Amino acid sequence: MYPVMLSLTDQPCLVVGGGGVALRKVLGLLEEGARVTVVAPDPVERIIALAAEGRLTLERRAYRSPEAGDYRLVLAATDARETNRLVADDARAAGVWVNVADDPELCDFHLPARVRRGDLQLTVASAGRAPFAVRLIRRLLERRFGEEWIEWTEAAAGFRRRVRALGLDAAEERRCFEAWFEATVDPERLTARVPRAEEESACLIRRGRVPSSTGARECATAPRDVDASLRGEGTGWVSLVGAGTGAPDLLTLRGYRRLHEADAIVYDRLAAGALPADLPSRVELHPVGKTAGRHPVPQQEITALLVRLASAGARVVRLKGGDPYVFGRGAEEAEELARRGIPFEVVPGVTAGIAGPAWAGIPVTCRSEAVRVTLVTAHECAKSGGPQVRWDLLAQDPHATIVGYMGVTALPGVVRQLLDAGMAPDTPAAMVERATTAAQRVAAAPLVRLPDEARRVGIRPPAVFVIGPGVTHRKRLDWQARAVLAGQRLLLPPSLTRAEGDLTRAGAEVLVVPLPMTPAARIALAAAPVTGCVFATADDVDLVEDERANPGLAQAATAWCLGAGTARRARMRGWDRVIELAGTNLAEEIGDACMAARQPA
Ligand code: SAH
Repeated sequence: MYPVMLSLTDQPCLVVGGGGVALRKVLGLLEEGARVTVVAPDPVERIIALAAEGRLTLERRAYRSPEAGDYRLVLAATDARETNRLVADDARAAGVWVNVADDPELCDFHLPARVRRGDLQLTVASAGRAPFAVRLIRRLLERRFGEEWIEWTEAAAGFRRRVRALGLDAAEERRCFEAWFEATVDPERLTARVPRAEEESACLIRRGRVPSSTGARECATAPRDVDASLRGEGTGWVSLVGAGTGAPDLLTLRGYRRLHEADAIVYDRLAAGALPADLPSRVELHPVGKTAGRHPVPQQEITALLVRLASAGARVVRLKGGDPYVFGRGAEEAEELARRGIPFEVVPGVTAGIAGPAWAGIPVTCRSEAVRVTLVTAHECAKSGGPQVRWDLLAQDPHATIVGYMGVTALPGVVRQLLDAGMAPDTPAAMVERATTAAQRVAAAPLVRLPDEARRVGIRPPAVFVIGPGVTHRKRLDWQARAVLAGQRLLLPPSLTRAEGDLTRAGAEVLVVPLPMTPAARIALAAAPVTGCVFATADDVDLVEDERANPGLAQAATAWCLGAGTARRARMRGWDRVIELAGTNLAEEIGDACMAARQPA
């Protein structure tokens, strides 16, 4: 069997038969621009509709021998073998290529199964001998090759044009292509990304250098100005985006869009959980995480990185936890960008000081109780030299809420200062750790006892404290703590996205993760351990198994499985706790099982 790709634009093609199989062939031919005639006495609705739209010619009658000879290509798909044979004989006698559905003996050619990613097509065939194997391999490829290959193929074509224009010799050209391929394709995971202009020019310049007897010489046909124009200098921008407080869906819609438009994302540790799992893998990801007391990448270097990326023409998102301008050093970064004339914008985010209390049942303002909110960094308290927080003034206002960021270590000192300045010791107060995530914990006590209570609960950063009358509402409004799935961080495959709303409403933190995983999905998953994975199929189980080393899967989690086959695979793969679900209402079924597990035996 000799594989060919036919160009069928405006070529007369005949399909004999009008059932579902014929329809599939008709659609394939139309997609390629063929002029299609269908001969069938009783075709399916869709074929009639296509004819009515003028997209094909429909002859509602039996096949008339030897009309097959009048076409370039003939496909027979009737359910009568004699008719199919007649069509095939007529075609062959006239020198026309013919295919008969499900009848390899009568075929001149077979139609391979294909996976299409724009102009990139992967085809699979077995000479008509094992169609089931072809179908399953196609499915495998369909899953393995993501949508990013569409853009990648376009970019490859563009790169080829550019290389061609340089007039290199064949060996130099090949080196350019190989360098480009190496830079853009992950051969293990079969993912691809479009390179930035500067990376692309690096492939040209580096590989354009050819060894000569006198040592390396610059390739004369890749001059410097080509390099500069390819880099697209000066066209970059930076978007300072607030990632929200940790729950993936607390990212704003605009933030989500900017992330999808980006070439590069520079993100903090607290923002990692909000990286959209469906981010194309071409996007460069730069972690610059800060943990309390440790600054792995100094602020100057972060700013320098933003400047470097944007100056090279990249669309950059600086993703910061919460809101970029609330204790996030966003102002410093924006000032530097402004100073250098780099275009930037700010996409505000849900900030911990508002969302944290809300998730703990505490409104930060409330008519006639709290008419002012102060967002304050408690960290300054522990430092000397800078401006000091006037805790003494804040202590004077009983109709206000104080929300303190970065205050786990500083809490005892802050409380002492407030009490010394005359604040009532029984002022309601609370501390919320990892608010809005499945790991949220709350310590609540009158002000004077809050440091002890926080210590007893074991509150650790990141946490905010809240002091003020609003805290009393907690008794009635702590909706999250009462939610059936509070504390659950669940991994959900995209095929079950429909359950996301129900699951989050029931209190779970839900991570919808493409399988196989994207690099962004791996990072988001690693932000905290999941308590469970929902599997729709045995394939899902296998694909998650590939990610076993991810810290997000470090805890002994529950495998929630749709159907017995999926559950069997999970057990086989060593999941200890496997629960089979009927799948009618996932949130309810998982909720019931969690409730049952909480009941004392
Ligand atoms: N820009 C961020 C704050 C950055 S400063 C925002 O707007 O939320 C880091 C501090 O934010 C932490 O020390 C903690 O006080 C607070 N914080 C961030 N995320 C939090 C969360 N999920 N729960 C509680 N506090 C959080």
